[in-house]
Amino acid sequence: MFRQSQKWHAENKIVAIVPTMGALHEGHISLIRAAKSKADKVIVSIFVNPTQFGPNEDYDNYPRTLSEDIKKCREAGVDVVFSPSVPAMYPDNSSTWVNEDVLSQYLCGTRRKGHFRGVCTIVLKLFMICSPDIAIFGQKDAQQSIIICRMVRDLNIPVKIIVAPIKRESDGLAISSRNKYLSPKEREQATVIYKGLQEVKKWQKEKLSVAQIRRKLIRFIQQEKDIRIDYISIVNVDTISEITRPDKGDKLLIAVAVFFNKARLIDNIEIKW
Ligand code: AMP
Repeated sequence: MFRQSQKWHAENKIVAIVPTMGALHEGHISLIRAAKSKADKVIVSIFVNPTQFGPNEDYDNYPRTLSEDIKKCREAGVDVVFSPSVPAMYPDNSSTWVNEDVLSQYLCGTRRKGHFRGVCTIVLKLFMICSPDIAIFGQKDAQQSIIICRMVRDLNIPVKIIVAPIKRESDGLAISSRNKYLSPKEREQATVIYKGLQEVKKWQKEKLSVAQIRRKLIRFIQQEKDIRIDYISIVNVDTISEITRPDKGDKLLIAVAVFFNKARLIDNIEIKW
């Protein structure tokens, strides 16, 4: 992969990568379109990365649909699909990791210990192997995108990070590979997440405080009895730390993580205070 990429660089081609775990859906395809609009060559990596899953998470059951994914990539005009095996990415005795120490302490980081260490490590490895000029990540995983931007800055990685908007179903549910885990009833209930996030804008106009908005959002989402809230947090977009009294003009991230049985869904919106 590295040689192919170097060849493209020698031809003055701009190379983009879209890192994914496969089970490709319209959200991923929107990132591929963004990549194609900014680069001459597009690599999609498909790798269910074991090191970003906790011991009780869904690594074994995570949907794997490689041949369909390759077809979708071909239709979307992807130049190369890079889908390495686990031993190729993690040789025996792998013992070097990339740790981001601050931003990883909040939101999903508190719930999924070691998750962002796995993410940062695999993303840096993909960058080393694929040597892209640009990498596209989704706002759907807002904290991940913020942490990758920090890693790239802190380690002087010569890759430009572009964060693409969340692609949603027509009823607002953020598209996710994990939506497949939902029963039809849960799928219907899941629309409450985005509806709640939209209500936030209304509550903000009503001049409610951050704490009041958070409480109202919790109550709104809890209307659906099959949902268990993992967290609902209102944080500063730059620091990802909880914010109670924002200044006018501050950018806030309203981040939600919920469980339906074992399926964990995340969503977010950004608002300006
Ligand atoms: P995943 O395969 O779930 O690890 O996701 C790969 C990339 O696709 C990540 O950068 C995600 O943020 C992004 N992504 C996942 N779902 C969506 C979506 N609904 N809209 C936009 N990007 C998404």
